Amino acid sequence: MATFGTLSDRLTQALANLRGKGRLSAADVDSTVREIRRALLEADVNLEVVKQFTGTVRERAMEASLSQALNPAQQVVQIVNEELVAILGGQQRRLEFAKRPPTIIMLAGLQGAGKTTLAGKLAKWLAKDGHTPLLVACDLQRPNAVTQLQVVGEQAGAQVYAPEPGNGVGNPVRVAKDSIKFAQDKQFDVVIVDTAGRLGVDADMMKQAADIRKAIDPDEVLFVIDSMIGQDAVATAKAFQDGVDFTGVVLSKLDGDARGGAALSVASVTGRPIIFSSTGEGLDDFEPFYPDRMASRILD
Ligand code: GDP
Repeated sequence: MATFGTLSDRLTQALANLRGKGRLSAADVDSTVREIRRALLEADVNLEVVKQFTGTVRERAMEASLSQALNPAQQVVQIVNEELVAILGGQQRRLEFAKRPPTIIMLAGLQGAGKTTLAGKLAKWLAKDGHTPLLVACDLQRPNAVTQLQVVGEQAGAQVYAPEPGNGVGNPVRVAKDSIKFAQDKQFDVVIVDTAGRLGVDADMMKQAADIRKAIDPDEVLFVIDSMIGQDAVATAKAFQDGVDFTGVVLSKLDGDARGGAALSVASVTGRPIIFSSTGEGLDDFEPFYPDRMASRILD
């Protein structure tokens, strides 16, 4: 995966230096941990996350060196792998469905993060599993947003609920509420609510998202984050956590060639699981997120 190309190379290199050693000295551990630290920082992983990660790896690697275990290099690789899985959230977390349909999924995030595209991806993925998703256009800020959702809906084969001209236009909270009633009446079993984003965190946008959340009480609030936004990722994620208290994260644009490390920090910093990842503009470029698979890919 391009995003983690450099990080992956650097980590693999740091660990390769241990190969062939019969035993690990404290100096070996120190120099390896230093290289891991540098690799993570250069990939934009958040400083606090790096500190915590390297602290744990160092402690565990020291223990392994003292135990004079066989093949210490492999042990350290294993430790790094386990700790990567941990910062990525540990266990896989599946999408939660309501006990009584419809399941309500609200999407939040900055403009351009990939929310509308994700709405289509989710709808297609859910429909394949026999669900009947309804897409709801609550991004009434940008003139094009409703049309864009309609295009995506058509590609995904999903119906789109949008305000009629003169009825609910400019009032996304009302549109969101009405859409739930509509979904109940027409027996859609999942409602995916697309919301407005701005280029940066903005009090009005956050209040609108919070008001929508309050009005429809979603089963999931997915925070969509562009993996390429660099160090801003953590501050943005924290702002959305305070503003809309999201239940899960979607990493989008993991196919990009940026360093991607900031996105790796989001689960750890917010304590919220990454549920999906997006790897392209096409509706099929999307998959559930598995922390262990991602860690293995990074250390591949
Ligand atoms: P929104 O403003 O959050 O609704 O973002 P959009 O869904 O409109 O996406 C913004 C742009 O990013 C569009 O050009 C999408 O085609 C593109 N995009 C969305 N997801 C991905 C992804 O996973 N990879 C890539 N390369 N582009 C994506």
